[in-house]
Amino acid sequence: MIPTILPTYNRAPLAFVKGEGSWLIEADGRRFLDLGAGIAVNALGHAHPDLVAALTEQAGALWHSSNLFEIPRQQELADRLVEASFADTVFFTNSGTESCELAVKMARKHFHEAGQPERTGIIAFEGAFHGRSTAAIAAAGSEKMTHGFGPLMPGFRHVPWGDHDALHAAIDDTTAAILIEPVQGEGGIRPLPDQCLKGLRALCDERGILLVLDEVQCGMGRTGRLFAHEWAGVTPDIMMVAKGIGGGFPLGAVLATERAARAMSAGTHGSTYGGNPLGCAVGCAVMRHVADPAFLAEVARKGALMRQRLEGLVAAHPDIFKGVRGMGMMLGLECRVPNADVARAGHAAQIVTVPAADNVLRLLPPLTISDDEIAEGVTRLEAAAASLATA
Ligand SMILES: *Cc1c(COP(=O)(O)O)cnc(C)c1O
Repeated sequence: MIPTILPTYNRAPLAFVKGEGSWLIEADGRRFLDLGAGIAVNALGHAHPDLVAALTEQAGALWHSSNLFEIPRQQELADRLVEASFADTVFFTNSGTESCELAVKMARKHFHEAGQPERTGIIAFEGAFHGRSTAAIAAAGSEKMTHGFGPLMPGFRHVPWGDHDALHAAIDDTTAAILIEPVQGEGGIRPLPDQCLKGLRALCDERGILLVLDEVQCGMGRTGRLFAHEWAGVTPDIMMVAKGIGGGFPLGAVLATERAARAMSAGTHGSTYGGNPLGCAVGCAVMRHVADPAFLAEVARKGALMRQRLEGLVAAHPDIFKGVRGMGMMLGLECRVPNADVARAGHAAQIVTVPAADNVLRLLPPLTISDDEIAEGVTRLEAAAASLATA
């Protein structure tokens, strides 16, 4: 008999009922150190007092009015994002996949209105993840996500990660945009070297195509800059955001330059819930923290500390681990044994991590994690590795 919850997930047998900072508390009372943050969502940890206050205050005032009216909190959050980024304008969504939908629509509409309606093609990369809508699975293109869901939305081409020749060959007069994660998340924490992002920007400019960045996972302070592309010193035309921006409340956004977004006039896109007062109140509170340069410097410092400790863990357990990769607090442990086994051993040691492709174990802690908690996390991973070594 089919479970009452559609069984699209392989769930671990753990039920967290409460969160405090970097800790998740299981129904039986056990405390787990959370190095997953709900897959890079709980950027400020669990039950951050500022987020709880922002949400409850807004909940007592107004939950929903509609985008048929002005929404002061939405305006405030848009202004904050524009001030802190390359963007001139923002559309709010409720998830990463919705942000992908709009990014694709916006790129196509841009060329349609620019008198180049034949430019509809989007070039994306193998190993990418952009969400689960029909456009997003067509964008990522992996057999695992698309099998049985055809016909897929046309217009997407895929090139291997880091294959310059294939990328150049894929571009033609029908290309509208290049879509890429500056750091692949689900794909196994694969950062795009700064030089490559610079090269992509130059290529887009030269060929007159749009650069669309998916910063759903790597954005909002995760790498030690507000957005990961800032490390390369170049800017996109369109950017997808979600996950960390709501700190746990469902919220996403598409940020864009005026040039890329100009064609999206009244009636061309919409969302009932996108930009609702609750989500935007929380988003404003998240932004007050993560856009602060001192906060971002701490993310970079703690990320470096964590990486250094993890290198020690790898050296101590070369039979279990191969190496560490990533940026800031978006780190991946390359495993020699199945990453799911390490994650499971971690559960026994009361630590939460997130498996990714390429047999990598993702470490995406709350950006507010303390030095002591980082040390404790590595101690627990050590215990997990030791249990596998003797198993
Ligand atoms: C999670 C993720 C998405 C999809 O976000 P949802 O909110 O699950 O729809 C898209 N892109 C990237 C890079 C992600 O990590």
